[in-house]
Amino acid sequence: MIGGSLPAALAADWLTSTWDMNTTLYVSGPAAAVVEEVAGAWLKEILRLPETASFAFVTGCQMAHVTCVAAARHGLLGRLGWDVEEQGLAGAPSIRILSGQRHGSTERAVRLLGLGQRQIVELPTDDEGRMLPYALERELSGHPSSPAIVLLQAGDINTGMYDLFDSVIPVAHRHGAWVHIDGAFGLWAAASLRFQQLLAGAANADSWATDGHKWLNVPFDCGYAFVADAGAHRADARDQRDWTPEWSRRARGFPTYAALRQLGRCGVGALIERCCDHARTLVDRIGALPGVEVVSQPVINQGPVRFLDAVDSDRRTEEVISAIAATGEAFFSGTTWRGRRAMRISVINWQTSEADVDRAVRACADVLGV
Ligand SMILES: *Cc1c(COP(=O)(O)O)cnc(C)c1O
Repeated sequence: MIGGSLPAALAADWLTSTWDMNTTLYVSGPAAAVVEEVAGAWLKEILRLPETASFAFVTGCQMAHVTCVAAARHGLLGRLGWDVEEQGLAGAPSIRILSGQRHGSTERAVRLLGLGQRQIVELPTDDEGRMLPYALERELSGHPSSPAIVLLQAGDINTGMYDLFDSVIPVAHRHGAWVHIDGAFGLWAAASLRFQQLLAGAANADSWATDGHKWLNVPFDCGYAFVADAGAHRADARDQRDWTPEWSRRARGFPTYAALRQLGRCGVGALIERCCDHARTLVDRIGALPGVEVVSQPVINQGPVRFLDAVDSDRRTEEVISAIAATGEAFFSGTTWRGRRAMRISVINWQTSEADVDRAVRACADVLGV
């Protein structure tokens, strides 16, 4: 899940360093502020998020989680008459975090904001790792007076799974919970006509976190946070500092603006679909080699596979991953999914071609000796 740099985005990134604007305040770099506003509006359009949502340019999806969960903390405690910015967290009602499968970065955000890892409640999921609406209903009605954040996923890091937003979000909202979606790469499916139905209902969440440096292929570092209730995020005229955890920071709007100008809406959709097609081909072709098991079919741009061995398939999988990396032809990372080791096939760079796919399959076949 690494990404790449589109030519226009890379050039804009060089200019960003050349101009060296400080994007704390509007007055310290009006061009950066205006370009961020334009790019922020484009992002909401292409990601199909509410036009009225607020946005922030941060270093990555983890800091987008921090930004959004801070807004959730403010919003949920504010409703209970607790001003967390003034009073701090000591003595505040504790906020429960309800989650199924999740990326480790969400836990880091919870820890960083002082909510406490122990407040994370694991809810059961279906076979594909999606939160079960009735399990959420039961949990929320069992704790009617506790403020809660429901963490959902648009694109699981291993399988690309999407939560069932249409059935889960209304349950959360009926109980006054805040819904945050981790869409680090998966939110970009909104740009593709073929895949956007995976996000049905996702626009009804309260906050969303995603990355520019992954699927939009802008250089590191660039993430985006969006909050439906702009007031919970920050009610003020737009000085960028008021929307991000940082004070001084880089003018991340320029590369994002350039990437979106280079590709246009259709271009972003085509990039997403091309990566998904390559991932599908890789999983099909590697999965067809002897001794390979497809752990999960790709939903979007990745799918884990596993290498079987009569004695120890985890070890065999590790060995094959290392041997492929040692060829210098392709790199796949290892992952643990449901307690078993797997090799994660993931395609997210605009430059990946059919020839690269052939080479990667060849490298895998060579390692397997077939
Ligand atoms: C990469 C990733 C993150 C973390 O994003 P950063 O940009 O590295 O902070 C969070 N969630 C998912 C699903 C990811 O793939």
